[in-house]
Amino acid sequence: MIDICALASGSNGNCYYIGNQHDAILIDVGITTKRVLKRMQERNLDPKKLRAVFISHEHGDHVKGARVLCKKLDIPAYFTKKTLEALYPNYLPDAARIFTPGESISEGGFTIHSFLKNHDASEPCSFRVEYDNKHIGVFTDIGSACQNVVDNLKQCHAVFLETNYDEGMLQNGNYPIYLKRRIASNMGHLSNMQAYDLLDKHAGNNLKCVYLSHLSGENNAPEIAYGLLQPLEPRFEVRLTSRYEAGEVYVL
Ligand SMILES: [Zn+2]
Ligand SMILES: [Zn+2]
Repeated sequence: MIDICALASGSNGNCYYIGNQHDAILIDVGITTKRVLKRMQERNLDPKKLRAVFISHEHGDHVKGARVLCKKLDIPAYFTKKTLEALYPNYLPDAARIFTPGESISEGGFTIHSFLKNHDASEPCSFRVEYDNKHIGVFTDIGSACQNVVDNLKQCHAVFLETNYDEGMLQNGNYPIYLKRRIASNMGHLSNMQAYDLLDKHAGNNLKCVYLSHLSGENNAPEIAYGLLQPLEPRFEVRLTSRYEAGEVYVL
């Protein structure tokens, strides 16, 4: 049995829980420790099971809560060397461990497979977490779906996949031109339509559930993202995540 839950998802903060009967890990801690613990409690998830956190890249919405949480729970945080070097000093946890992109790490019965992705950070990685022959992907902050994303998605039974922006809302919105270009570039974020195309072409037969993740507060709306992706539902379940509360727990 594996429980998965987006404790927070959006451009304001990300934190994804993956746990079995005994152990659990978090991918990214971009919200405060107080929020992580409160949201876990609300979903009956036990913080005592947490063995480690894995940080995808140095942007604050993925790492700003890691230092305090790791200290409080006395668990390590994994980073690539370049991500660690690019961190704001006050995000730096005491117990930092280094992994190399492409490396697979064992923690609490899980195997955490890391891989490089396209994003404007120093050494951005995503993770596919394996336990009991089940695979869960956490694929956010991807400017375009590179071959690594495609190859890892094919193996997934469940995935937190970025649907960051609606292309029309971004183009017609109030962001300055340089920021619009950055978001839409191959090193920025994945749009609703890009996520649809990726899933339509490359979702594997094992895929049961997709959580639409890392929605922009400015350039997207949950009903728009869900409306676009929902027609894929005969193939797998499509669920929303929230920037304000923990999502529903999916049991795999
Ligand atoms: Zn982000
Ligand atoms: Zn980012």
